[in-house]
Amino acid sequence: MNTCTTIEELKSTIHASKTKGKRVGFVPTMGALHPGHASLIEQAAQACEEVVVSIFVNPTQFNNREDFETYPLTIDKDLEVAQRAGATVVFAPHVEELYGGDLAVAPVDYGRLTSSYEGQKRTGHFDGVVAVVRKLFSAVEADSAFFGKKDLQQLAVIRRLAEEEFVGLEIIGCTLIRESDGLAMSSRNVRLVGESRQTALVLHGWLNQIKKEACNQGDIQTALRAIESEAAEMEGVELEYIDVVNGASFEPLHDGPVDPEAFAIVAAEVGGVRLIDNCALACS
Ligand code: AMP
Repeated sequence: MNTCTTIEELKSTIHASKTKGKRVGFVPTMGALHPGHASLIEQAAQACEEVVVSIFVNPTQFNNREDFETYPLTIDKDLEVAQRAGATVVFAPHVEELYGGDLAVAPVDYGRLTSSYEGQKRTGHFDGVVAVVRKLFSAVEADSAFFGKKDLQQLAVIRRLAEEEFVGLEIIGCTLIRESDGLAMSSRNVRLVGESRQTALVLHGWLNQIKKEACNQGDIQTALRAIESEAAEMEGVELEYIDVVNGASFEPLHDGPVDPEAFAIVAAEVGGVRLIDNCALACS
């Protein structure tokens, strides 16, 4: 596995493999790799001969300074995880390499996709995400890029970015990977200490409740309001939103999830750690 820190090194490695006719897959990450990330890399390795994994904690997408400063850094372990999962190149640039000392990013307006839910709760978050992914897409020039459905709204934003600016780049949405007890895997989970780790399971529980309601053609709005009331009573949990939306447009679905693309989405702080989760409501 090749490790590069500059765009120049990266480009020359990729151009060499492209001239050999290799298909290039790209998995952007912020490091602290866990099995959720590994599943993306494995999927990329099944489809592509060259698999580039970027490891970069992007300062411009954090709306909370403390979250950025305490973001876990585990580069040695990350290199092992990436290699084991099938990465052939790791791109781990310094901030200056991507931003050249200027961290100002342009605002992005994709309507509801960037203004609702995560966009509303985390001001400027998607501006930073789009800025960094645009830079990375330009540097890697991949055939396919792999993103987790864990960050469902981010996936929709990236699909829009690719449609508008990277025509021909295939965006693949990959399955959300959970711990055995149902908690969605996240790099931030290491910060769930003491009781918070157990309390965090409530997010998955709520999503399951909504799914059950949807599958029984129950009243979803009533279920959502009941969850909001329950959350308001819980200690150590700050519910930010829970709703049912179309997973591509992020339009709320207030008349029940007849839409096959209906997803329940949730964001909450548990023990001071911000968590997001979602689940498809299509019943089998
Ligand atoms: P991050 O390092 O958190 O920026 O995530 C990098 C990529 O891994 C994104 O496309 C995420 O959606 C994806 N990812 C993170 N956690 C999971 C998970 N539990 N299951 C699947 N993909 C994930």
